[in-house]
Amino acid sequence: MTLLAEIKSFSKPLIANLQKLGISHLPALLLHLPLRYIDETSISLIQELKLGESAQVEGKIIHAEVSYKPRKALIARLQDTSGQLTLRFLHFYPSQIAALKEGNRLRVYGEVRSGFFGYEMVHPTCKTAGEKTVVAETLTPVYPTVAGLTQASLRKAISIAMTAEHLQETLPASVYNRLQLPSFAASIKALHHPAPDANLQAMQLKTSPEWRRLAFDELLAQQLSMRKHYARRRSIDAPRFVPSRTLVSALLKSLPFALTQAQQKVALEIERDLQQPHPMQRLLQGDVGSGKTIVACMAALQGIESAWQVALMAPTEILAEQHYRKMQCWLAPLQIKIAWLTGSQSKKERETALNAIRSGEAQLVVGTHALFQESVTFHKLGLAIIDEQHRFGVEQRLALRKKGQPEPHQLMMSATPIPRTLSMSYYADLDVSVIDELPPGRTPIVTRLVADERRGEILQRVREACIQGNQAYWVCPLIEESEALQLQTANDTYAMMQHEFPELKVGLVHGRMKPAEKQAVMAGFINGETQLLVATTVIEVGVDVPNASLMVIEHAERMGLSQLHQLRGRVGRGAAKSTCILLYQKVEDQQLSEMARARLKVIYENSDGFVIAQEDLHLRGPGEFLGVRQSGVPMLKIADLERDTDLLEAAKSVADELLLRYPEAVEGHLERWMGSAGDWIKV
Ligand code: ADP
Ligand code: MG
Repeated sequence: MTLLAEIKSFSKPLIANLQKLGISHLPALLLHLPLRYIDETSISLIQELKLGESAQVEGKIIHAEVSYKPRKALIARLQDTSGQLTLRFLHFYPSQIAALKEGNRLRVYGEVRSGFFGYEMVHPTCKTAGEKTVVAETLTPVYPTVAGLTQASLRKAISIAMTAEHLQETLPASVYNRLQLPSFAASIKALHHPAPDANLQAMQLKTSPEWRRLAFDELLAQQLSMRKHYARRRSIDAPRFVPSRTLVSALLKSLPFALTQAQQKVALEIERDLQQPHPMQRLLQGDVGSGKTIVACMAALQGIESAWQVALMAPTEILAEQHYRKMQCWLAPLQIKIAWLTGSQSKKERETALNAIRSGEAQLVVGTHALFQESVTFHKLGLAIIDEQHRFGVEQRLALRKKGQPEPHQLMMSATPIPRTLSMSYYADLDVSVIDELPPGRTPIVTRLVADERRGEILQRVREACIQGNQAYWVCPLIEESEALQLQTANDTYAMMQHEFPELKVGLVHGRMKPAEKQAVMAGFINGETQLLVATTVIEVGVDVPNASLMVIEHAERMGLSQLHQLRGRVGRGAAKSTCILLYQKVEDQQLSEMARARLKVIYENSDGFVIAQEDLHLRGPGEFLGVRQSGVPMLKIADLERDTDLLEAAKSVADELLLRYPEAVEGHLERWMGSAGDWIKV
């Protein structure tokens, strides 16, 4: 692969700037595509300008001044044969003042807006125009860039990179012809140097055949890379488990409920995987409350019965503690030894746990991030179970996997459903099992949106619920900017609730509490002693108290969709009819921001986690949605999963075809996209 430094005409500063853009070799430079295009192919008359459109006009500066009111601005009037236009610059250099001197002829390009003196352009691009200034023949690309790298130098560098060697086709013609896509070379040329008659709109919307070809190539590289990782995993050894008969049936017999069809189905999928000679990497997806924990426990028993150790990791101490207790309750009768490990144990407790893990005496280890720290040595780790996997980074999950030899099986669980397009792309390296059914007897949660002004009524509602023997959560607002403020709000709310409800036992739990305190508070709520639990969003994941049937979320407009869905999932776990009240703040007439309103509407109208996740993806985009999973893993840059769903489907089947029939094309294709899309997964 040609590195930038090998190109003689590239200066050191140019190379440094390109590197800032993440470009270190020529193929990547060619794949640095324009953000948009501007149409400098024609010159419009000022009189014919239309509001909102971008246009190029040419004329003479008839007046220019730096004005200071209402704020500092450089303002000039440009006149052509048909009329006048104001040019406005809020930031400017002395060189611009000089360029906009009275009498100068300029060609300017910008968006037409309405201003105090009629139409104006704010920060138009300006060129001195002479008799001989030619009009561009093609659309002008505008690239993403960094300070110090001009559009002109970027364009030039890209033109230099456009040699036959780098434009070589990686795919068999039959493949792209069938998809009605142009060749790679034609696409690259058209995108960087659009033809005079190119369809500007299709280019801007990225729906032109050339854009689609590159989006397809990128998606294909992602698919190929995922397949290769998948194949690698299938070629390595793993602990082989025997089917668990005795322990699992003993466990199931002891439960007060029967597994749902969906739970049985996924348990079977997992059981089969665990008997394979290669490591499982399966994602168990199921909406909040669908009963993933018992399925994980069955997998754990299969490992334990096969004489391997099992680790169960959760992202918060509260959740890990809850799992530990549940496992104790389910597994202690089966004489299974469970160790417990968190960052906040006393030295002695920790030593005891570490010894039990090292010696193999502990058959199941439950804990937080503390599980994958260096000091933890497993005797024989065969299965790592990761709850709420989206809360962990790639690196963290990897570290836990490295604790076993051979590579342990991995079961990841998540209540945040992955929309189909994402599971086909970013998650294509995993096998996925879905629990698509809730245990019977749950009554749907009623969601209400209530303006904060009506808080009084809500407090009354809480009082009534608690007096009737139900329990309630009061979730404090999320204050992302300051943890101190978040803490203070939680404390204030707690004080206020105690004052408001002298007849009730009120508890408080937040992230900054000492683990022992936290445990005590949660224990009080679980055993029903505490009626109202004031909490920060620490209770968002996993907390399971079936008797809690009312939840009030303050400032719900500040929270994200999946967060709200998860929080709401803390109620509706028992037979009682449950309600979730989303309090939102209306500040005088200041309306809720559009995004917040859209989120609240989605959560109000939907209870299906899949629909909510789909909307969340739509509102936030894949980068935000995927969150930590993607830390250190490149995102798709050209393809857009919503816009290019058909290409994603095509890429999936073409990947199979190439691997089967054109293995040499696979290597070439991955090499081109390497660093951009080649390495999607950290092994
Ligand atoms: P999640 O999938 O959100 O992690 P949990 O595993 O915490 O859900 O299960 C939620 C609750 O439902 C727990 O109290 C659990 O014991 C209970 N549960 C699980 N499976 C069933 C079932 N098949 N029938 C009835 N209750 C169940
Ligand atoms: Mg759970």
